Amino acid sequence: MYIDGQWTDAESGATFEVFNPANGALIDTVPDGDARDARRAIEAAARVFPEWSTRTAHQRSGFLYRAYECMMARKSDLASRMTEEQGKPLRAALAEVQYGADFLLWFAEEAKRVYGETIPASRPDQRFLVLHQPIGVVGAITPWNYPVSMVTRKVAPALAAGCTIVLKPAEATPLCAIDVFRVLEEAGLPPGVANLVTARNPEPVGREMLDHPDLHKLTFTGSTEVGKLLARDCADRLKRVSLELGGHAPFVVFDDADPLHAAKGAVLVKFLNTGQACICPNRIFVQRSIYRAFVEAFTDRANKLVAGSGFDEGVRIGPLVDRSALAKVERQVADALEKGASLLCGGRRLTENELDQGWFYAPTVLADVTPDMLIYREETFGPVAPLIPFETESEVLKMANDTRYGLASYVYTRDLARAMRMMEGLRFGIVGINDINPTAASAPFGGMKESGLGREGGREGIREYLETKLVGMSI
Ligand code: NAD
Repeated sequence: MYIDGQWTDAESGATFEVFNPANGALIDTVPDGDARDARRAIEAAARVFPEWSTRTAHQRSGFLYRAYECMMARKSDLASRMTEEQGKPLRAALAEVQYGADFLLWFAEEAKRVYGETIPASRPDQRFLVLHQPIGVVGAITPWNYPVSMVTRKVAPALAAGCTIVLKPAEATPLCAIDVFRVLEEAGLPPGVANLVTARNPEPVGREMLDHPDLHKLTFTGSTEVGKLLARDCADRLKRVSLELGGHAPFVVFDDADPLHAAKGAVLVKFLNTGQACICPNRIFVQRSIYRAFVEAFTDRANKLVAGSGFDEGVRIGPLVDRSALAKVERQVADALEKGASLLCGGRRLTENELDQGWFYAPTVLADVTPDMLIYREETFGPVAPLIPFETESEVLKMANDTRYGLASYVYTRDLARAMRMMEGLRFGIVGINDINPTAASAPFGGMKESGLGREGGREGIREYLETKLVGMSI
């Protein structure tokens, strides 16, 4: 763990093991922190907050620029670590490290653009000023699926705004977080400004964040279930909260689109990170007249995806994170088949060529999925693509919006008016029109409905860490 500028063990002396999900091999052990370590970290962050928050924005920006440079210099080491610890193919890991570094660069720039305002007053002897000031100490909790970029997406804007931070990474991927903190240390992070508490059991660390009076804001990325739990506790204490939660993205293909082009895009984003991304399509709607052509092209591509170690050339499908992720996928597929879906490829755990040492599931295509199936409602977080035919635009818009989630959505069409209507009608925080990667550090990322509160990245990203202060002045 990294607390107050020191690499340290847990106060209890406990440690936990980190395994490679592709082969079950032990990678390393890390400190198993609890409430006492979280308290120490929060107190360090609170102690240095007055000093960090009163540095100039240009000084904080300078630190983030250096962190960006250091991360770029360590790009390939970080990516290898990620492939080993999280399982994604090395090429995807390299792309993620770049995405993670992009947040350091973007918020190095945004730090200098926290502008205030003056407001005309009705009294001639009064002036109004609006200031934006850092919230204070931030608690951050991140998931395992994007173990570098989810860390920088929180740490960079918090530090840019002048906040100090305590991060608890996911128990499956603490090593990536440790490597990110080595980068911050190398860039000259002052002691206490950012602190890292690793823990096998997240609950006591999360509780300390919620209970400690000096922690003013919680930012969380993870499941909707845990997000709601934390939001409830934040409400009791009126702590600020940002939530990036689960998704159930619709992917809509109209018959004026090229089915082959759309199928290529759909496969890329569906099987991204083995389906373990919050923006992965969870329902692929295809207009009836091109349904067969799309299904064939999609299945053909899915069939060709190679599963294995992310270090092997040509591998596109890594392991699932753990046994329970595998069980969830198996349950959803069995349920869909029982209720009448047809299995076009995959549909089983992969065990050949020593894949049984890890948590591999074959890229799977289910056709003719219907609303009564679990997969139509539940986030899958695995390599299973449910295909659903539709007839009309108004019907598919209704079906696409028929979910409690509202993170990403996708539309393939060549009709501009239709693209506009869909863009406006979809109740999702992100819409990709003929675009399977509608994300960047410079753009606001986040969800509506049960996919969360607040935005990360873009101009909006830094606002999550700022308070608004009104100053009235009689002159
Ligand atoms: P999770 O909710 O189980 O865990 C996320 C983090 O919360 C981990 O660090 C975990 O240790 C911690 N946590 C769990 N229970 C806690 C508790 N009681 N108190 C405090 N902390 C607790 O989710 P996961 O399985 O790690 O991640 C997958 C989920 O994350 C998916 O639902 C996915 O859609 C979502 N996700 C969302 C985004 C986004 O930007 N919207 C990005 C990535 C992942």
